Order: sequence, then structure tokens, then C-alpha cells
Amino acid sequence: MTLKWRTSIEGPFKKLVHIGLDLLYPPCCAGCGLHDAVICQRCMDRFLGVQGALVLDSPSKSKKHKTGQEIQDSISVWSDVWYQPPVNHILVSLKYRPSQQLAESLAQRLADLYHRESLKADLVAAVPLGSGRLKQRGYNQVELLARPLADLIELPCQHAAIFRTRETRSQVGLTLSERKNNVQEAFQADEVLVNGKRVLLVDDVCTTGATLFSCALALYSAGAREVTGLTVARAKYQSLSIV
Ligand SMILES: [Zn+2]
Repeated sequence: MTLKWRTSIEGPFKKLVHIGLDLLYPPCCAGCGLHDAVICQRCMDRFLGVQGALVLDSPSKSKKHKTGQEIQDSISVWSDVWYQPPVNHILVSLKYRPSQQLAESLAQRLADLYHRESLKADLVAAVPLGSGRLKQRGYNQVELLARPLADLIELPCQHAAIFRTRETRSQVGLTLSERKNNVQEAFQADEVLVNGKRVLLVDDVCTTGATLFSCALALYSAGAREVTGLTVARAKYQSLSIV
């Protein structure tokens, strides 16, 4: 309840802060630090598009919803580009400076991908940050992306749809099974918001997909009809450390 209340009063205030920051620090490219654009053409030209979706499912197919229906346990994750320079610099920049313009520029690319692949959803939700990290950073960079994306594809953005039930450690440096254990059952979804709905679940980077998959299970357990992942970047596991 506290979180919902804080979100409702902080939204407009945070937007003003973001606009102020954009005015104080006029745009320079988040990829190379040069040029008068949030992402310059030279950096855009270096983006390497990801073809196809990463399909994640669970070997165990026996989970059941409280209604007795079998819970779906697969998720397709679509990503715009590979996590490599300059995309890694751009996403790190969004973590430490909440640039609305940069978020809108990336959201436009996600909206293009959504339409290009004819994806379908009823609502947009962001992978939530833990409360500790949220306090430390002051904002969730994925929410920053999800809001303009939802506007562009004309869907409601429901940040309260999914939340963390416990803090998790950073996934950096963990093995595949450690990553899965780290985020297992770390999320819960709001049945009222997601029951019967197709959820577009947004994150900045997908590496093994363990976090997105864990979120998807929580959403399915709360009755979601379908969960589709959408991320700015896909990282080749252990090819480049994610910060
Ligand atoms: Zn650049």
C-alpha cells in the first residue's frame, strides 16, 4: 500500500525532476558522450539487431492454478539489439541518470519492435526493482522505459501488476543455476490487475532470462493469460558483465 501511495504522488514530481535534469544537462549521446542527440546516428548505426525471440520454458509442466487449471510456464522474450558497445553504455547511463528523453528514444524502438512482430498485449508492466535498490537509485530505469512505451502502443502501464516479495542479490557473476535460484519465487503479481490479461513484461537487458521467467511464473500464477517479454538488449551469457 505504501508503495502504491508513493508512486501516485511521486509520478508528477519525478517527471518535473526529469525535465529539469534534461534542461540542466542538454542531451549528449549516451553511447559515446558526443553530439547533440540522446543517441547519435553514429551509435545507432553500430546497433546490432536481434533476430527472433528467446523462448523460455520450464521442464516441469505440473504446476496448477488454484482453480485447478494448469499454469502456463513459457515466455517468449523479444529484444531489440545485442548488448554490446554502445548499447551497454546507453543502458548503464539510464541506470545512473534518469533521462526522460533517452528513455523515450529507447521506448520508440521497443514500440517499433512490438508492431513489427505483431505482438499482442492488454497491459504493460516493468520488472520491479527491489526496495533497497529503489531507495538507493531513486527510480526504476525499467519503469522509465515502460511508461512511454505504453503510451506509444496505447496500453495501460500497470507498475503495481508485479512486485518483489524479497530482495535478491545482483545476478552479476552468478552461474546459470545460481541465477535461477536467486530470483525463484522472488516476485508476486496482483490477481486483480492481471487475471485473464496478456502482459507485456519490460526489462532493459535479458541475459539468461531467469528474472523474466520468474516474473512470468508469478504473473501466470495470478491468472495472466499470456506473458511476453520485451527488452532493449539481449546479452550473450558471460560475454560481457552486466552492471
Ligand atoms: Zn553516439
